[in-house]
Amino acid sequence: MITSAGQRQSGSVNRPTAPAAAASVLHEVFGYSAFRGLQAEVVDHVTGGGDALVLMPTGGGKSLCYQIPAIVRHRAGQGVAVVVSPLIALMHDQVGALEEAGVHAAFLNSTLSSDEASRIERELRSGRLVLLYAAPERLLTPRFLAMLDSLHERGLLSLFAIDEAHCVSQWGHDFREEYLGLSILHERYPGVPRIALTATADHITRADIVVRLALEGAQTFIASFDRPNIRYAIVEKDEPKRQLLRFLRDEHEGEAGIVYCGTRKKVEETADWLNTEGIAALPYHAGLDAGMRQRHQDRFLREDSVVMVATIAFGMGIDKPDVRFVAHLDLPKNIEAYYQETGRAGRDGAPANAWMAYGLQDVVNQRRMIDESPAEEEFKRVQRGKLDALLALAEAHDCRRVRLLGYFGEASADCGNCDNCLTHPETWDGTEAARKLLSCIYRFHATSGIGFGAGHLIDVLRGKVTDKVTQHRHERLSTFAIGADLDEARWRGVLRQLVALGHVVPEGEYNTLALSDSARAVLKGEVPIVLRQPRAAAPRGRVRKERALASDRAPTRAPAAAAELDAAAQARFAALKAWRAEVAREHNLPAFLVFHDTALAAMARERPASLGELAGISGVGAKKLEAYGREILQVLSAN
Ligand code: ADP
Ligand code: ZN
Repeated sequence: MITSAGQRQSGSVNRPTAPAAAASVLHEVFGYSAFRGLQAEVVDHVTGGGDALVLMPTGGGKSLCYQIPAIVRHRAGQGVAVVVSPLIALMHDQVGALEEAGVHAAFLNSTLSSDEASRIERELRSGRLVLLYAAPERLLTPRFLAMLDSLHERGLLSLFAIDEAHCVSQWGHDFREEYLGLSILHERYPGVPRIALTATADHITRADIVVRLALEGAQTFIASFDRPNIRYAIVEKDEPKRQLLRFLRDEHEGEAGIVYCGTRKKVEETADWLNTEGIAALPYHAGLDAGMRQRHQDRFLREDSVVMVATIAFGMGIDKPDVRFVAHLDLPKNIEAYYQETGRAGRDGAPANAWMAYGLQDVVNQRRMIDESPAEEEFKRVQRGKLDALLALAEAHDCRRVRLLGYFGEASADCGNCDNCLTHPETWDGTEAARKLLSCIYRFHATSGIGFGAGHLIDVLRGKVTDKVTQHRHERLSTFAIGADLDEARWRGVLRQLVALGHVVPEGEYNTLALSDSARAVLKGEVPIVLRQPRAAAPRGRVRKERALASDRAPTRAPAAAAELDAAAQARFAALKAWRAEVAREHNLPAFLVFHDTALAAMARERPASLGELAGISGVGAKKLEAYGREILQVLSAN
């Protein structure tokens, strides 16, 4: 379907087949039998010299969209493709994977010695290199541009790929100053095709990317953003650490995942605590020294079951395919960030969980962060709008995926694979309760001349006589004890929703509560307020599998790649993994770059007995077949 001039979305009926050259590279180099989604069209367009803007979800297969054109164009004598990528840490792995597949690739960044850099520069000048990865700041140096000039003059500059293209936009959540300089590519090398790729961009960010990278003439390819294998769940915060522990023990014992926290301190505390609970967890945040960050990242990538507890400093470009869950203990900044962070789960297509615990304090904190930022009012307005959309997602009682995709402009039907679809939340009419709460805040200001915080508000509503109540004579207020029928958790829910909707505004150092203009209509009963029924209280203390049916977990466990194998195949799978670990150590690469779990599982299941049969397994390309085929057959025949 072509949606508008120059835009295509997946679901295309008469998709053109990529030319034979691209298809054979896909098969022979990468060992895959077919293109996925829009890949064929993108590859076709870019190989033919067109510019492209590609929006594809994480795990959608963006890398092949520029790697295959790079290979095909190189074979046709068109030289090297330059890939701009913001994360030097990950270039190593990308390049390692390409070299494993027999594609000559390299990176230039600050981690190289000058000898190594000179060697790579020689390779670059010679035209032998197929792909070169570089950080934007490196690319913009006079020395590098001079090398590109020389290649360009000789017709050996085949392509520019700009990965994580949302970094060019201030509206994106990951703005990088250096990306702005990339407009030079177009000005200096107008004939060289450019492909910009991102997994996250709402319409504002998208438009901004086009302008800043001068991609007005580019074809835009928008894949479906759905990640059907990810199960979304957002639970009310009660005792977040315990809730997290229960989630990990019940659903992800021995599996790799990421736990996002809002602050460095909380990262440290949470990682320590998980370790005392017997879960191997590592902290990652910008306050740790570079060596430790690297070590932790390496362990996460290389080992099977490390839980990374991190701030958002961790994650961009992490392409570990078997991350089985992403948990949020604090609210992300907006839906793009949430989508990007949760998208790191389940790149291999096997079931994965995106789980978030969310509470009143999250709403308050995020609102304040925007209010108190030194940014301009226009910027704050946009950010508030984005936060509102995220809060609506968190408060939703209907399908999370419908809302998530809707935010990116994609219509869909109830997914059957989110918490709300699986267990429809009960709702109740909170209009009366909301009115009581708002009038109590109003009374505080009217009688005491000041606002009060959430705790005191709820005490007064519930008719609790505390020191603070007597001190301010609030037992005399008309709103005292008008809400004794609802428990504290209920009232917190009502308040959270009212703050989320913007009717109540926390102010000042102590988050005292005030009414916004919009509260008037709610007070008058003109705006119905529908609230989620709090789910049954989770069992406290002792955490046991059979008790944890509750409330805040998805009903079934997400099985990993090998879950459906029978016992004999499981044994072969284990033997193949042990063999892979050896190879990975020898080559100093993460295991998944040698073979994915899904490829090993297929070998264990199908038990190929010859090189020919092995070649038929997805993920086994010509180079890997040649390098490892015999060893794999040996492992299989011995187990
Ligand atoms: P992205 O960069 O979009 O997050 P990747 O390029 O890392 O995604 O691809 C995700 C995974 O899917 C990778 O493991 C990749 O090898 C695999 N993949 C990509 N395209 C195909 C394909 N056509 N067939 C099978 N596997 C694919
Ligand atoms: Zn759903």
